[in-house]
Formats: sequence, C-alpha cells, structure tokens
Amino acid sequence: MAPQYDAVIVGAGFGGMGAAIQLKELGLGNLLILEREDDLGGTWHVNRYPGLAVDIASVTYSYSFEPNPYWSRLFAPGTELKSYAEHVADKYDLRRHMRFDSVVQGARWDEEERHWVVSTEGQEPVTARYLMTATGFLSQPQVPKIAGIDSFAGTVIHTTAWDDSVELNGKKAAIIGTGATAVQLIPELAKKVAELTVYQRTAIWVLPKVDFAMPRMVQKVFARVPATQKAARAAMSTVLEGVMVSAVLHFKQAKFINNGAKLAAKGHMRRQIPSAKLRAELTPDYDFGCKRPTFSNSYFRTFTKSHVRLETNSIARIEPDGIVTADGRKTEIDTLVLATGFNLWDVNFPAIEILGREGRNLGKWWRDNRFQAYEGVAVPHFPNFLTLASPYSYSGLSYFTTIESQMKHMRRLFGEMRNTGSDVFEVTEAANAEFLDRMTANLGDSVFYQGSCETSRSYYFNQHGEAAILRPTSTVNAFREAGRFPLESYKLNA
Ligand code: NAP
Repeated sequence: MAPQYDAVIVGAGFGGMGAAIQLKELGLGNLLILEREDDLGGTWHVNRYPGLAVDIASVTYSYSFEPNPYWSRLFAPGTELKSYAEHVADKYDLRRHMRFDSVVQGARWDEEERHWVVSTEGQEPVTARYLMTATGFLSQPQVPKIAGIDSFAGTVIHTTAWDDSVELNGKKAAIIGTGATAVQLIPELAKKVAELTVYQRTAIWVLPKVDFAMPRMVQKVFARVPATQKAARAAMSTVLEGVMVSAVLHFKQAKFINNGAKLAAKGHMRRQIPSAKLRAELTPDYDFGCKRPTFSNSYFRTFTKSHVRLETNSIARIEPDGIVTADGRKTEIDTLVLATGFNLWDVNFPAIEILGREGRNLGKWWRDNRFQAYEGVAVPHFPNFLTLASPYSYSGLSYFTTIESQMKHMRRLFGEMRNTGSDVFEVTEAANAEFLDRMTANLGDSVFYQGSCETSRSYYFNQHGEAAILRPTSTVNAFREAGRFPLESYKLNA
C-alpha cells in the first residue's frame, strides 16, 4: 500500500522548515509537518521571556538562501526571529503542510510496507515513506527536583512558558539558574521587581556583546545589493568559526586563545563590578567553552544594584513563601522564575520513541551503546530516517549552519535515490562506525577532553561523560562532507 505522505517531519522550527523546503525542491512535496506547539517557529515560538535575543549575529543566524536585510539590530530580538519564521513559512508555502497541537508519540518502521507509521496523541496514525525528526536540542524544559518546590504558594514561571500577564512590578522574586537564558532575563527582571535573588549553582563565562541598531542606510544597502549582506555574513561566520575551531575544538594546540577569552570575560566583569568578592563569586572555575559562553553588556552590572543579590549557597528546600539555603537562611519571595534549562540526554535524544528494523528502539540503543549518528543525520537499522537534532550534528555556532549542511546531505542522498530508482536507504554499519571513530578522535584535542570541564555541569556532556552534541570539525568540513560523502555509505533498496 502506498504511504499517505512522502515524508513526515516532526517539528515546525527552523530545522523542520529547512527540511521541508529541501524536500519540496527535490519533488517530494506531499509532506506532513507535525508540531506539538500551537504555532510554528520552534524555540522562537516557545521562548518569549523579556530580553530574548539572538547571540549570534542575525546576518549569520538565518538561512543563507533567505536573507533578511531588515534586522533591526546586529543581534535581533526574539520577536523578529518569530516573524522571520512566519515569513519563511509563507514564502515557501509550508503552512499548509503543518498540523499544530500534534504531539507525536512515536514512529515505527513497517518492514513489510517499507514505510513509517507515525502515531500522534488523539489522532489517527499516519504513514510516510520518509521520517525526519527536527525536534531541536533545547526543547524539553527542565523543572528542578528541589524539595518542596510543589508547595510554593506564589507564582512559578519557567522561562519556556513566559506569561506576560504575570505582574512583576514590586515583587519579591527569585531566579534559579545562570545559563544563557538567565543572562538575558536577569537585567530585565531587575528593572521591574522590588527584590531579586539570583540562585547560582555554576557561574558562567560572559563576554561583552558588541550590539547596535542597524542603520537604515545599511538595511537599504543590504536590500539593494544582496552581495553586501552576503559579505557581512561571511565575515561574521569566519569570526565564529575561528572562535569555535581554535578556542574549543583545538584547545590543545591553541590554549592561548581560550585563555584570551577568559581574560576578556574577566576584564568585562572588572569594568562592571567593583567588588572583588562579588567578582570571585561570578567567576567560573572551568575553562571557557566547556559550557556555552554567553554575551551581555548588562548582566554583571545588574548585580551591583541594591535590590539584586547573588546567592551562591545551594538550595536546601523551597517553602510556601521562600527559599531556604544549605546554611539555613530563608529568603522570602512571592515569585519564582525557573531559568533551569533543558533536559537533553534523558528525554531528548530522541524526543519521541522511534522503532527501526526488528523493533530496535533508538533511544534505548543510544543509551545502551553510544550516542551516534552518521554525519549527524543517519543511524543503521533505521531506514528512510534522518535525525536532524542528533549526536554530533551541531556544526559551528549558528544552528543554521547545521540546518543547511543537513539540507545539502539530503540533496546528495535523495539525488542518488532518484538516479538509482530507489525508495529505501539505510546507512551502513561501517560508515557509521568510521564516522563515530573519527569524531571521537577529533574530540581528543578539544577543550572538553584537554581542558578543565569537571565542574562545569555542562549539557554538552552526556551520561557517559561524552561531549556528543557538537560536530568536532570545522563547518567547512561539514559542508564539504555533506556534498561529497561516499555514496556507498548508504545501502539503497536493501
Ligand atoms: P542552561 O544553560 O542549561 O542553564 C540552566 C541553569 O539552571 C544553570 O545555571 C543550572 O545550573 C541551573 N539549574 C538547573 N537545575 C538546577 C537546580 N536543580 N538547582 C540549581 N540550579 C539549577 O539553560 P538556559 O540558560 O536555558 O540555556 C540553554 C541554552 O539555550 C544555551 O546554552 C544556549 O545554547 C541557548 N540559548 C541561547 C540564547 C541566545 O541568545 N541565542 C539565549 C538563551 C538560551 P548548573 O549549571 O549548575 O547546572
């Protein structure tokens, strides 16, 4: 029986939309995009907290084939990313393929029919020749298991469920977490609340953000002469690539660059915080890059305000009206903000149950063996399946680099399928093993294994102690391989 769809894509964020654009271009236009949220945009739909903005320059943090000359700032605010996602969906006619409020439970490869059966809560299962999961890396919010948290009588708000109707003015608030989200949110919260206590478990490296409003003139030039925006993108991408490759991936060879980044962050702190004690508390004790660094011009300064307090004692419990730290002190609060991030390794790889040939369960297999995916997209035993948010797939610092190299991989793979009249692909065990070995060897020089990361509590590391998210190669290498990987890496019509 012919499947209902050419492909089912799980996720209507930038990854899922990129895959859909690519499949349509390849003539596979009978698509269904299933999205658990009530609208498109992925992370840029879900995250709406005050201060949300990109921290990769917008000329780079966007599709290269769909430049937007009108970003209002060098680092655009989150609302503009959401509008950009809507623009892309309209321009590439993607909305009609999308089904919102559709929580995918799982997908199963049907060996006899040679297609995927995808189950969605409260809906009839659907069938598709191909399955692509574009469920993001940071999409399963983490609510901390702190004793007494459920007894808190005030307002609790996680940063992924921001509610603008919650009154902040005059409140006694606390925020738990000091990751990239908190770094953006804390200065904004401090503008409104009467008291703010920041609970920090692990300090974070923060660099200055060289941000400015895009002059109207520049926008006009970008619009009239697209080559100028391309050049700006190339320049920004080169800087990012330099930082990533030298400070993070080649830490062993270029430790001085990593140390330079730490010095820059410390200097930034010194300029904003006179108190040596406070600076010491805010200074990480792990190497730059173990954890994703952040950028802000207002984070450090916020701690010098009289109504803002940094708390570095660990949280013992939460009571209905406050937080008690391990030293027995209680801070009374009425509003609790959880900037506690996401759970990647227990629930996100993969985000849904995926059963391949002979019922192999992808999540179990990854956990029992090692997290792995050939070129960050394909797994043996899982035919006609591309996992777009997977181990070793995140290439470079802009997520769009990952998306576009995966689109390129799809062009080569599906082009070969068309040329050979095939309708089933599966990556070989040998190609997968070679890729995993190579990535493991490459990581040997990185800050993750050569640096001091033990105290960083970084989500880059999984439960096996492996830093298995980032692809440890240059983005140039990722793009080159996406267009040139050996075609024998895949068995067709096996
Ligand atoms: P995160 O980096 O995982 O930070 C979570 C914070 O919550 C950490 O400080 C963590 O402390 C703390 N935390 C978690 N559970 C805790 C507990 N039980 N007790 C005390 N503290 C606890 O999450 P995030 O800040 O949401 O950022 C996630 C990622 O999203 C970033 O790394 C970045 O990739 C992306 N992001 C990007 C932007 C942007 O501008 N483009 C903005 C925001 C986020 P520990 O470190 O001790 O675990």
